[in-house]
Amino acid sequence: MEYIRIKELLDQPKTGETVTVKGWVKTRRGSKQVNFIALNDGSTIHNLQIVAETEKFGEEVIKKITTGACLSVTGEVVESKGSGQAIEILGEKIAVLGESDPEKFPLQPKKHSLEFLREKAHLRVRTTTFGAIYRIRHAMIFAVHKFFNDRGFFNVHTPILTSSDAEGAGEMFRVTTLDPKNPPLTEDGKVDWREDFFEKQANLTVSGQLEGELSALALGNIYTFGPTFRAENSNTTRHLAEFWMIEPEMAFHDLKDNAELAEDFLKYLVNYALENCEDDLNFLAKREEDENKNKPANERPALSLLERLKMVRDNDFAFCTYTEAIDILKNSKPNKKKKFNYPVDEWGVDMQSEHEKYLVEKHFKKPVIVTDYPKDIKAFYMRVNDDNKTVAAMDILFPGIGEIVGGSQREERMDVLTSRMKEFNIEEEHMQWYLDTRRFGSCVHSGFGLGFERMMLFVTGMTNIRDVIPFPRTPGNCEF
Ligand code: ATP
Ligand code: MN
Repeated sequence: MEYIRIKELLDQPKTGETVTVKGWVKTRRGSKQVNFIALNDGSTIHNLQIVAETEKFGEEVIKKITTGACLSVTGEVVESKGSGQAIEILGEKIAVLGESDPEKFPLQPKKHSLEFLREKAHLRVRTTTFGAIYRIRHAMIFAVHKFFNDRGFFNVHTPILTSSDAEGAGEMFRVTTLDPKNPPLTEDGKVDWREDFFEKQANLTVSGQLEGELSALALGNIYTFGPTFRAENSNTTRHLAEFWMIEPEMAFHDLKDNAELAEDFLKYLVNYALENCEDDLNFLAKREEDENKNKPANERPALSLLERLKMVRDNDFAFCTYTEAIDILKNSKPNKKKKFNYPVDEWGVDMQSEHEKYLVEKHFKKPVIVTDYPKDIKAFYMRVNDDNKTVAAMDILFPGIGEIVGGSQREERMDVLTSRMKEFNIEEEHMQWYLDTRRFGSCVHSGFGLGFERMMLFVTGMTNIRDVIPFPRTPGNCEF
């Protein structure tokens, strides 16, 4: 290798040796005679200091060393005389690989707002904050696969294009090659989807679960980790139109086993970040602290980022049933004082995010697993409990986030499942492939879905889901 990455160099400084590094200029400061260049190559949050004498390289070259420019630098590694870094490089050779016009480069060496950076999402990865977020994102992806692989789960790729619309998890994006101005019509004047590419209506998947169940009933324990799409017109800080979801599905697991696995999994991810992303987390924690200094006390989180992560890692999650949760909410101060936008008055209503936040942040003060929801507000495949009113569902609520996981024990009884499908007006005809699992060798099984970006919000402490995915897709926004 003809160059060394900055992380490697900082981890094992080769003082006295001559090395080549390549990266992008964060800043250049100094005097007429000597320049101090902060170079970053993305391998770590830390910059490497390059000392460059103007005389050695000429003013023409030095002038081109501006924020955003790409450099290759060769020089001796020496102990740094300045504070703030252990080593630096005495520049002997500098090649400007790519110039960056300081008049035009949008990212100046100053603090930019997250809103501004969202408009520049193609360049924001060059900032310290987004570099940290994307490195953590990688670590979390890796940790997801490691967790399941270590436990003997098999990763399954479920389809992204699907003709199944029964999952009901959200509004779907239609996929078609028909001419929108002039689609073929049936005799009664409707669009004739039989003429479309798949000879039927096709959509982007909202969840890989149903296909995941097919694999679980053969491979035992599986997980999917793929993109999912929801055309929900909810412009919130927690919803994306394209997001990544992890969906494990396990044969012979009931709801309790399912909840245990989910709790272990979330703790594992948090612990993995604490153990492997220290520098990036420390930076984000400091950033959050600085941001919060200007906020009124009631808008600041009670715990710091690192305290929140350790709180999740080190405490058992709370459990409560939907029925208990509704009682807690009914009798809560904000409900009595009519502070909720959606007052909680009767059993059976769906919980809103304000309710979820109250439960987790004010009442339990730690993650909580809410189980056994009314069957009418949950999906058809969730197992009906003996009370015939509730289903074996679970949502996991996290501080600052609300729902992070949704899951259930699946209805394994053919007769109950088909009667539930009737209640939901789901045509059996299209679902024969799914019903075959119940027809042939059905068994108790369970699974859940973790929204990867919601987890990223929790781990990074960012507060807008648009800032934890490189290219966010939201209503009215599909740039880059
Ligand atoms: P919510 O009520 O918050 O919209 P949901 O009930 O629609 O969530 P599920 O269908 O159970 O969510 O999806 C499983 C998980 O996927 C959720 O717990 C959440 O973490 C994540 N998720 C759902 N919708 C979105 C979205 N639009 N953007 C990002 N993550 C999402
Ligand atoms: Mn939703």
